[in-house]
Amino acid sequence: MKSFFTHLECTYCEKIHSSSEPQRLCVDCGKVLYPRYDLESAKKVFTKELLPHRQSNMWRYFEMMPILDERNVVTLGEGFTPIFDMPSLGAKLGLSKLFLKDEGINPTASFKARGLSAAVSKAKELGLMRLTMPSAGNAAGAMSSYAARAGIEAFVFMPRDAPEANQIEVYFTGGDLNLVDGLISDAGIISRQKAEEMDLFDVSTLQEPYRVEGKKTMGYEIAEQFNWELPDVIIYPTGGGTGIVGMWKAFDEMEQLGWIDGRRPRMYAVQSDGCAPIVRAFANGDEFATPWEDADTFAAGIRVPGAIGDYLILRAIRESQGSALAVSDHSILSMMKTVASSEGMFICPEGAATAVALTKFMAEGSIASNERVLLLNTGSGLKYLDLLGDIQSNLKGDSG
Ligand SMILES: *Cc1c(COP(=O)(O)O)cnc(C)c1O
Ligand SMILES: [Zn+2]
Repeated sequence: MKSFFTHLECTYCEKIHSSSEPQRLCVDCGKVLYPRYDLESAKKVFTKELLPHRQSNMWRYFEMMPILDERNVVTLGEGFTPIFDMPSLGAKLGLSKLFLKDEGINPTASFKARGLSAAVSKAKELGLMRLTMPSAGNAAGAMSSYAARAGIEAFVFMPRDAPEANQIEVYFTGGDLNLVDGLISDAGIISRQKAEEMDLFDVSTLQEPYRVEGKKTMGYEIAEQFNWELPDVIIYPTGGGTGIVGMWKAFDEMEQLGWIDGRRPRMYAVQSDGCAPIVRAFANGDEFATPWEDADTFAAGIRVPGAIGDYLILRAIRESQGSALAVSDHSILSMMKTVASSEGMFICPEGAATAVALTKFMAEGSIASNERVLLLNTGSGLKYLDLLGDIQSNLKGDSG
């Protein structure tokens, strides 16, 4: 297979960057770089008819991935996750076409596997042998796992109160685990310092150009799994936003490949009311988000006070006529129980947040009962057992 990857382009000032050497952010404006492809040439040979014969993971879209030599692909079988209907929750909400894409069954039990499979593969291709990142949790476990498989060193900077599962998986997969007193933004500052001191390559969300390419494959899969007619609505738990902007990028690429028409889902971003910088910026009509003070939520994946790709997230929401909404930890926890007990899926808090948001969007009339709605469950509830235990006892205490 041949990748049609050609170069990197700044998403803000459009400056072109070479892809044959390591790059992080735009050298002129400091914003996010996106991989670009020769879609004109790809269109002639990369047809969707090829896909049924391909492997059942995200590398089935290899032509649209940024790895040039297939031998550099570092994989644990990530992607091509199933989309389930949600009959019970759908009936409760009066929605006949409610679906959930279950990213919890990815390797490392979250969709971070996609981004890190792509980023570690590209690091291998570029000869980068020492990686670092700050992580709210799941990204660290994924980086450490893929790095182990590639024979690459991984350094992780994680808030001390990140889910225990993430700390343990980094330890077992051989990552150099450093716990930080503070939030992911504090961990990011230390990770960048260490990167300079120790010559590590920093693979923070959207601060290197390749994780988004792993996450964009969700967009390709959704199109393929919905038989090339995208759903009307996608609801996404938004932290750094790689997934939502990745899917939006995939839709653009697929339209240029002639795989889908111009109809797009409305993209709805969900955050916790304890950390909702994107929701606030959306409501204010701002182009960028100001960092959230004292971010607090047990949904670790969306406890991200500031996102470097904020303008890209806000663009995707606005261009798609979507919206952004914050939900409470209490409602997330109770939705986890509802979904697990009625659909048999032990989804993660971030995934449950999308279902809570759905109930609110329906109540305010912005989603209609005949629409096809897709929720993203981004990880497995099993990665949060320590936090869930605590919260359960707190809730019991609350109610006396
Ligand atoms: C990282 C993470 C998110 C947020 O993903 P972004 O693409 O960074 O917005 C949501 N859910 C889980 C479980 C995560 O690990
Ligand atoms: Zn730029």
